[in-house]
Amino acid sequence: MIFQGYDIPSEQRNGGIAVEHAIVKTISLKKQYKTGTQTVAALDGVDFEVKEREFVSIIGKSGCGKSTLLHMLGGLDKPDSGTVVVDGMNLSEMDEEELALFRRRKAGFVFQQYNLIPDLDVCDNITFPLKLDGVRPDEGLVGELLSSLHIADKAQMFPAMLSGGEQQRVAIARALAARPAIILADEPTGSLDTLASHDVIGLLKVMAKKYQQTLIVVTHDLDIAQMADRIVRLKDGKLWNGGGFYAGK
Ligand code: ADP
Ligand code: MG
Repeated sequence: MIFQGYDIPSEQRNGGIAVEHAIVKTISLKKQYKTGTQTVAALDGVDFEVKEREFVSIIGKSGCGKSTLLHMLGGLDKPDSGTVVVDGMNLSEMDEEELALFRRRKAGFVFQQYNLIPDLDVCDNITFPLKLDGVRPDEGLVGELLSSLHIADKAQMFPAMLSGGEQQRVAIARALAARPAIILADEPTGSLDTLASHDVIGLLKVMAKKYQQTLIVVTHDLDIAQMADRIVRLKDGKLWNGGGFYAGK
């Protein structure tokens, strides 16, 4: 895969690791946090694979390492040891500049907080990161995202005028506007009621299929997790049962 105009030489991307059909692969991923005299193994040797276009949910109790894992997959943080390969690129070997490009162009992030800019209308919120990156927004795609996410009539409204579910759909449109290969969502329904939660995840799933993206959703809500193709459970920084079971949906 190529960063439009900013390609990283393939020998730097691959690091000698065969990707096969996994778009995401981690090998022996470890991350510790030290606070005072305490050391917490947030990730304690995680081997994890996600196939291209798969929708995987990661579940587990608060503090089990879900966000830490997602941050590693998105190049938001670096492991102490182990390897992360996404779309043929070995994130473990990238410098900060390469990681910044990876985050902007390959990964779409959706968080519990919508992080919309209050002074920008919906349309400008969606295109803002692209403009920052010097990329001209694809107006056709933005229009398509607005209508698919049922917020076309809100395009000129400001975030404060929208419901939580609508704000999260704007955040999803913003994440998708750069056509990322993978979408990483960390408790995206954490601030929504049940109805809005199902709506948001349902739309996220439809969008990921439509744009052939790989979708990884962290949640502690089993109902939401079961909307995925596969559920992976984390416990004390380790994958439970070696990689999850199929939700059958
Ligand atoms: P989850 O998302 O599953 O709730 P996290 O990945 O956020 O869990 O955290 C895993 C463990 O690492 C927890 O014990 C948490 O307290 C600890 N941790 C996470 N981030 C930090 C940090 N920046 N500093 C210290 N400890 C942290
Ligand atoms: Mg978390």
